[in-house]
Amino acid sequence: MVKAEAVHKSFGASHVLKGIDLEVAPREVFCLVGPSGSGKSTFLRCINHLEKISAGRLSVDGQLVGYRQKGDKIYELKEREVAAQRRDIGMVFQRFNLFPHMTALENVTEAPVQVKGETRANAVERAQRLLDRVGLRDKAGHYPAQLSGGQQQRVAIARALAMEPKLMLFDEPTSALDPELVGEVLDVMRGLAEDGMTMIVVTHEMGFAREVGDSLVFMDDGVVVESGRPRDVLTDPRHERTKSFLSKVL
Ligand code: ATP
Ligand code: MG
Repeated sequence: MVKAEAVHKSFGASHVLKGIDLEVAPREVFCLVGPSGSGKSTFLRCINHLEKISAGRLSVDGQLVGYRQKGDKIYELKEREVAAQRRDIGMVFQRFNLFPHMTALENVTEAPVQVKGETRANAVERAQRLLDRVGLRDKAGHYPAQLSGGQQQRVAIARALAMEPKLMLFDEPTSALDPELVGEVLDVMRGLAEDGMTMIVVTHEMGFAREVGDSLVFMDDGVVVESGRPRDVLTDPRHERTKSFLSKVL
Protein backbone atom coordinates (compact mmCIF):
# COMPACT_ATOMS: atom_id res chain seq x y z
CA MET A 1 0.00 0.00 0.00
CA VAL A 2 2.91 2.33 0.81
CA LYS A 3 6.39 1.87 -0.56
CA ALA A 4 9.35 4.10 0.24
CA GLU A 5 12.61 3.61 -1.60
CA ALA A 6 15.63 5.66 -0.52
CA VAL A 7 13.41 8.59 0.46
CA HIS A 8 15.32 11.72 1.40
CA LYS A 9 14.00 15.02 2.64
CA SER A 10 15.96 18.17 3.36
CA PHE A 11 14.81 21.54 4.60
CA GLY A 12 17.50 23.85 3.27
CA ALA A 13 20.77 22.58 4.72
CA SER A 14 19.02 20.34 7.23
CA HIS A 15 18.91 16.74 6.05
CA VAL A 16 15.94 15.22 7.89
CA LEU A 17 15.15 11.94 6.09
CA LYS A 18 18.32 10.16 5.02
CA GLY A 19 17.19 7.30 2.82
CA ILE A 20 14.04 5.67 4.18
CA ASP A 21 13.16 2.24 2.77
CA LEU A 22 10.03 0.56 3.95
CA GLU A 23 6.88 -1.11 2.76
CA VAL A 24 3.42 -1.18 4.28
CA ALA A 25 1.12 -3.96 3.11
CA PRO A 26 -2.64 -3.54 2.65
CA ARG A 27 -4.52 -4.01 5.95
CA GLU A 28 -1.30 -3.68 7.91
CA VAL A 29 -0.99 -1.68 11.13
CA PHE A 30 2.43 -0.17 10.84
CA CYS A 31 3.84 1.55 13.92
CA LEU A 32 6.56 4.15 13.69
CA VAL A 33 8.49 5.07 16.81
CA GLY A 34 11.56 7.13 17.53
CA PRO A 35 12.91 10.08 19.45
CA SER A 36 11.80 13.66 18.95
CA GLY A 37 13.24 15.15 15.79
CA SER A 38 13.95 11.80 14.14
CA GLY A 39 11.71 12.65 11.17
CA LYS A 40 8.52 10.68 11.91
CA SER A 41 6.08 13.52 11.23
CA THR A 42 8.07 14.63 8.21
CA PHE A 43 7.80 11.15 6.76
CA LEU A 44 4.02 11.04 7.31
CA ARG A 45 3.69 14.48 5.73
CA CYS A 46 5.61 13.24 2.68
CA ILE A 47 3.17 10.35 2.28
CA ASN A 48 0.27 12.72 1.69
CA HIS A 49 2.41 15.27 -0.08
CA LEU A 50 2.20 17.98 2.52
CA GLU A 51 5.97 17.89 2.06
CA LYS A 52 7.78 17.09 -1.15
CA ILE A 53 10.54 14.49 -0.98
CA SER A 54 14.02 15.61 -2.05
CA ALA A 55 15.08 12.28 -3.56
CA GLY A 56 13.96 8.68 -3.84
CA ARG A 57 10.60 7.17 -4.68
CA LEU A 58 7.46 7.12 -2.62
CA SER A 59 4.24 5.49 -3.74
CA VAL A 60 0.81 4.85 -2.30
CA ASP A 61 -1.31 2.09 -3.78
CA GLY A 62 1.06 1.79 -6.71
CA GLN A 63 0.96 5.50 -7.60
CA LEU A 64 3.91 7.82 -7.09
CA VAL A 65 3.04 10.53 -4.59
CA GLY A 66 2.95 13.85 -6.45
CA TYR A 67 4.30 12.46 -9.72
CA ARG A 68 3.33 10.34 -12.66
CA GLN A 69 5.67 8.06 -14.50
CA LYS A 70 5.40 7.54 -18.26
CA GLY A 71 8.05 5.24 -19.62
CA ASP A 72 11.22 6.50 -18.01
CA LYS A 73 9.98 10.10 -17.74
CA ILE A 74 8.55 11.46 -14.53
CA TYR A 75 6.04 14.32 -14.54
CA GLU A 76 4.97 16.42 -11.62
CA LEU A 77 1.23 16.24 -10.90
CA LYS A 78 -0.94 19.34 -11.02
CA GLU A 79 -2.31 20.71 -7.76
CA ARG A 80 -5.73 19.25 -8.60
CA GLU A 81 -4.24 15.79 -9.11
CA VAL A 82 -2.27 16.03 -5.87
CA ALA A 83 -5.50 16.96 -4.08
CA ALA A 84 -7.16 13.87 -5.58
CA GLN A 85 -4.36 11.66 -4.26
CA ARG A 86 -4.61 13.27 -0.85
CA ARG A 87 -8.35 12.60 -0.63
CA ASP A 88 -7.64 8.88 -0.35
CA ILE A 89 -5.45 9.35 2.71
CA GLY A 90 -6.88 10.23 6.11
CA MET A 91 -4.69 11.98 8.64
CA VAL A 92 -5.18 12.43 12.36
CA PHE A 93 -2.85 14.74 14.25
CA GLN A 94 -1.79 15.17 17.84
CA ARG A 95 -4.00 18.26 18.08
CA PHE A 96 -7.51 17.59 16.98
CA ASN A 97 -7.84 20.49 14.55
CA LEU A 98 -11.62 20.37 14.45
CA PHE A 99 -13.45 23.36 13.03
CA PRO A 100 -14.44 25.13 16.28
CA HIS A 101 -17.55 26.81 14.87
CA MET A 102 -19.03 23.53 13.61
CA THR A 103 -20.77 20.75 15.50
CA ALA A 104 -19.32 17.24 15.56
CA LEU A 105 -21.75 16.23 12.82
CA GLU A 106 -20.88 19.28 10.68
CA ASN A 107 -17.17 18.57 11.12
CA VAL A 108 -17.70 15.08 9.76
CA THR A 109 -19.95 16.08 6.83
CA GLU A 110 -17.92 19.12 5.70
CA ALA A 111 -15.32 17.48 3.46
CA PRO A 112 -17.58 14.94 1.71
CA VAL A 113 -19.98 17.74 0.78
CA GLN A 114 -17.41 20.44 -0.06
CA VAL A 115 -14.63 18.33 -1.58
CA LYS A 116 -16.43 15.32 -3.02
CA GLY A 117 -19.67 17.09 -3.89
CA GLU A 118 -21.74 14.54 -2.04
CA THR A 119 -25.36 15.30 -1.20
CA ARG A 120 -25.85 16.54 2.32
CA ALA A 121 -28.32 13.75 3.05
CA ASN A 122 -25.76 11.11 2.12
CA ALA A 123 -23.01 12.81 4.06
CA VAL A 124 -25.19 13.15 7.15
CA GLU A 125 -26.19 9.51 6.99
CA ARG A 126 -22.59 8.38 6.82
CA ALA A 127 -21.51 10.87 9.51
CA GLN A 128 -24.11 9.50 11.89
CA ARG A 129 -22.90 5.98 11.23
CA LEU A 130 -19.28 7.05 11.84
CA LEU A 131 -20.09 8.98 15.01
CA ASP A 132 -21.88 5.89 16.21
CA ARG A 133 -18.84 3.79 15.39
CA VAL A 134 -16.55 6.03 17.46
CA GLY A 135 -19.07 5.97 20.31
CA LEU A 136 -20.38 9.53 19.92
CA ARG A 137 -23.84 9.11 18.52
CA ASP A 138 -25.30 11.32 21.25
CA LYS A 139 -22.71 14.09 20.75
CA ALA A 140 -23.47 14.88 17.10
CA GLY A 141 -24.83 18.33 17.94
CA HIS A 142 -21.99 19.32 20.28
CA TYR A 143 -19.34 21.85 19.39
CA PRO A 144 -15.66 20.93 19.91
CA ALA A 145 -15.44 23.15 23.01
CA GLN A 146 -18.23 21.06 24.57
CA LEU A 147 -16.30 17.81 24.07
CA SER A 148 -13.40 16.27 25.99
CA GLY A 149 -10.05 15.86 24.26
CA GLY A 150 -10.70 12.16 23.74
CA GLN A 151 -14.12 12.86 22.26
CA GLN A 152 -12.67 15.54 19.98
CA GLN A 153 -10.02 13.14 18.78
CA ARG A 154 -12.67 10.51 18.04
CA VAL A 155 -14.60 13.11 16.00
CA ALA A 156 -11.34 13.83 14.16
CA ILE A 157 -11.03 10.13 13.33
CA ALA A 158 -14.66 10.00 12.15
CA ARG A 159 -14.01 13.09 10.04
CA ALA A 160 -11.02 11.44 8.35
CA LEU A 161 -13.01 8.24 7.76
CA ALA A 162 -15.85 10.18 6.15
CA MET A 163 -13.70 10.57 3.05
CA GLU A 164 -13.48 6.78 2.81
CA PRO A 165 -9.68 6.72 2.74
CA LYS A 166 -7.66 3.69 1.71
CA LEU A 167 -4.93 4.61 4.18
CA MET A 168 -4.98 6.31 7.58
CA LEU A 169 -2.02 8.18 9.02
CA PHE A 170 -1.94 8.87 12.75
CA ASP A 171 0.65 11.27 14.16
CA GLU A 172 0.79 10.77 17.93
CA PRO A 173 -3.01 10.82 18.18
CA THR A 174 -3.05 10.33 21.94
CA SER A 175 -0.07 12.30 23.15
CA ALA A 176 -2.02 15.51 23.80
CA LEU A 177 -4.64 13.65 25.85
CA ASP A 178 -5.01 13.27 29.58
CA PRO A 179 -4.00 9.70 30.46
CA GLU A 180 -7.55 8.61 31.31
CA LEU A 181 -8.71 9.58 27.80
CA VAL A 182 -6.03 7.71 25.87
CA GLY A 183 -7.78 4.33 26.04
CA GLU A 184 -11.00 5.42 24.33
CA VAL A 185 -9.05 6.71 21.32
CA LEU A 186 -6.84 3.62 21.13
CA ASP A 187 -9.99 1.47 21.28
CA VAL A 188 -11.37 3.22 18.21
CA MET A 189 -8.06 2.67 16.42
CA ARG A 190 -8.06 -0.96 17.44
CA GLY A 191 -11.55 -1.33 15.93
CA LEU A 192 -10.36 0.22 12.70
CA ALA A 193 -7.46 -2.20 12.59
CA GLU A 194 -9.84 -5.12 13.12
CA ASP A 195 -11.91 -3.87 10.19
CA GLY A 196 -8.81 -4.12 8.01
CA MET A 197 -7.87 -0.47 7.60
CA THR A 198 -4.27 0.10 6.52
CA MET A 199 -2.75 2.38 9.15
CA ILE A 200 0.58 4.04 9.82
CA VAL A 201 0.70 5.06 13.45
CA VAL A 202 3.35 7.26 15.02
CA THR A 203 3.01 6.59 18.71
CA HIS A 204 4.68 6.23 22.07
CA GLU A 205 1.98 3.78 23.15
CA MET A 206 4.08 0.62 23.12
CA GLY A 207 1.21 -1.46 24.53
CA PHE A 208 -0.87 -0.54 21.49
CA ALA A 209 2.05 -1.24 19.14
CA ARG A 210 2.58 -4.63 20.70
CA GLU A 211 -1.06 -5.71 20.71
CA VAL A 212 -2.38 -4.13 17.53
CA GLY A 213 0.68 -3.49 15.38
CA ASP A 214 1.76 -5.90 12.65
CA SER A 215 5.14 -4.27 12.31
CA LEU A 216 7.17 -1.71 14.11
CA VAL A 217 9.90 0.52 12.79
CA PHE A 218 12.33 2.37 15.01
CA MET A 219 13.60 5.52 13.38
CA ASP A 220 16.43 7.73 14.60
CA ASP A 221 18.07 10.73 12.96
CA GLY A 222 16.30 10.20 9.64
CA VAL A 223 17.08 6.53 9.16
CA VAL A 224 15.32 3.27 9.91
CA VAL A 225 17.48 1.71 12.60
CA GLU A 226 15.50 -1.45 13.16
CA SER A 227 12.21 -3.03 12.16
CA GLY A 228 10.28 -6.20 12.70
CA ARG A 229 7.30 -7.63 14.50
CA PRO A 230 6.47 -5.32 17.41
CA ARG A 231 6.84 -8.10 19.94
CA ASP A 232 10.34 -8.95 18.68
CA VAL A 233 11.61 -5.38 18.45
CA LEU A 234 10.18 -4.45 21.84
CA THR A 235 11.39 -7.47 23.75
CA ASP A 236 14.66 -8.08 21.97
CA PRO A 237 15.95 -4.91 20.31
CA ARG A 238 19.14 -5.47 18.30
CA HIS A 239 20.61 -1.99 18.27
CA GLU A 240 21.94 0.13 21.10
CA ARG A 241 19.95 3.14 19.93
CA THR A 242 16.73 1.14 20.01
CA LYS A 243 17.53 -0.23 23.45
CA SER A 244 18.29 3.19 24.82
CA PHE A 245 15.08 4.68 23.34
CA LEU A 246 12.89 1.83 24.60
CA SER A 247 14.36 2.03 28.08
CA LYS A 248 13.02 5.59 28.24
CA VAL A 249 9.50 4.91 26.94
CA LEU A 250 8.67 1.43 28.21
P1 ATP B 1 8.52 14.59 17.42
O1 ATP B 1 8.56 13.26 18.09
O2 ATP B 1 9.04 15.69 18.30
O3 ATP B 1 7.18 14.91 16.82
P2 ATP B 1 9.48 13.92 14.74
O4 ATP B 1 10.20 12.62 14.71
O5 ATP B 1 8.07 13.95 14.28
O6 ATP B 1 9.61 14.53 16.21
P3 ATP B 1 9.90 15.89 12.68
O7 ATP B 1 8.81 16.80 13.12
O8 ATP B 1 9.69 15.09 11.47
O9 ATP B 1 10.35 14.94 13.88
O10 ATP B 1 11.20 16.78 12.52
C1 ATP B 1 12.44 16.26 12.10
C2 ATP B 1 13.41 17.39 11.89
O11 ATP B 1 12.99 18.17 10.79
C3 ATP B 1 13.50 18.34 13.08
O12 ATP B 1 14.85 18.67 13.28
C4 ATP B 1 12.72 19.54 12.62
O13 ATP B 1 13.21 20.71 13.20
C5 ATP B 1 12.92 19.54 11.12
N1 ATP B 1 11.79 20.13 10.40
C6 ATP B 1 10.54 19.64 10.35
N2 ATP B 1 9.75 20.42 9.59
C7 ATP B 1 10.53 21.43 9.14
C8 ATP B 1 10.32 22.58 8.30
N3 ATP B 1 9.12 22.81 7.75
N4 ATP B 1 11.36 23.39 8.08
C9 ATP B 1 12.58 23.14 8.61
N5 ATP B 1 12.84 22.08 9.41
C10 ATP B 1 11.86 21.25 9.67
MG1 MG C 1 6.28 14.50 15.16
